[in-house]
Amino acid sequence: MDLFEHEGKELFARFGIPVSEGRVATTPDEARAAAEELGGPVVVKAQVLTGGRGKAGGVKLATSPDEADALARDILGLDIRGHVVRRLWLEQASDIAREYYLSVTLDRGAGRTLLMFTTEGGVEIEQVAAESPDALVRVHVDPLEGLEPHHLRELTAGVADEGERAQIERIAEALYDCYVESDATLCEINPLIVTPDGTVRALDAKVTIDDSALPRHPDLAMLRDTWAADPLEAFARERDVIYVKLDGSVGILGNGAGLSMSTVDVVVVAGGKPANFCDLGGGGSAEGVVAALEVISRDPQVRSILFNIFGGITRCDEVARGILTALDQIELSVPIVVRLDGTNAEEGRKILADAGNPAVHVSPTMLEAAQLAVELAA
Ligand code: GDP
Ligand code: MN
Repeated sequence: MDLFEHEGKELFARFGIPVSEGRVATTPDEARAAAEELGGPVVVKAQVLTGGRGKAGGVKLATSPDEADALARDILGLDIRGHVVRRLWLEQASDIAREYYLSVTLDRGAGRTLLMFTTEGGVEIEQVAAESPDALVRVHVDPLEGLEPHHLRELTAGVADEGERAQIERIAEALYDCYVESDATLCEINPLIVTPDGTVRALDAKVTIDDSALPRHPDLAMLRDTWAADPLEAFARERDVIYVKLDGSVGILGNGAGLSMSTVDVVVVAGGKPANFCDLGGGGSAEGVVAALEVISRDPQVRSILFNIFGGITRCDEVARGILTALDQIELSVPIVVRLDGTNAEEGRKILADAGNPAVHVSPTMLEAAQLAVELAA
């Protein structure tokens, strides 16, 4: 789960990492009020879960509440690489002398926590890594031993100013604690700025929390539910359905992530465009099918549904009954193409055929099923 910048900053602040004072706004009026409260120049920042907002016009400086209002009008609704801006963060503008980069992340290959720091911040870190790899300091920490003072010294060895170095070490230590205690897989500050008077502060926040650990962090899990980027994704989560919205017209349901992804590919091969990626998981119980169909049918872009099941532990007859139960319970306005294979596939197909529902089409192979679903969606 990725946090929005302002959520990440709130988390940082709890660990003692200095951030600027700010407010959330969802309308131009709120942006104006926020700018008035904050006083002086403010930065108006798009809150979307993607980087490079600055270059995309999602980060602007306002010198007055009037200007904050006008910028909010420009930025709200802006599409930044597929993410529509619905929320802004306004904070007191900082004077910047230098921009650094600091992060704590999981190095899966090394089986360790990785701290990275460079004085060449502000730009994409991949660019620094490619163009001046020597400028990027990488320090591994054994998660069982924990962070030691020598790690911090190694990390900031290239910083000439002693006062600055001390602040960065304190921030790195706090960021490490934040990473560990929040069960994060990434805590990144880019840029970490130095102001003209020598104060170091986090100007941006990128935090990813390990989804599997969310039950241990109800406060963070709550953020996701209240601010879900897509209301349908939140609806799906409540029902334990894995659902990812795409922009085509064929709704996809599979059991297991691998099969669901292959189904997405097959729909593209058949000349169609997937409306979503929906994974029933290994179960495929009637309730699971009902929940998944409920989610998919709420997406107005869906014109047909391709239901692809490979029965292993999941039995196709049970899935077929689940489909019929679902059709009794919810009003589905689009046709479903079902491909059943594996355990009890024949029995499952017979159950569907006997039911004689005109909205349900049964297809024996994945490709034929996809072709039919694409045809029906056209
Ligand atoms: P990103 O583009 O999504 O990474 O968004 P950032 O929060 O990193 O902002 C992009 C850039 O805007 C930063 O690298 C800064 O150069 C600039 N910026 C952001 N906040 C301020 C501020 O308070 N003062 C000034 N002068 N520049 C800022
Ligand atoms: Mn940034």
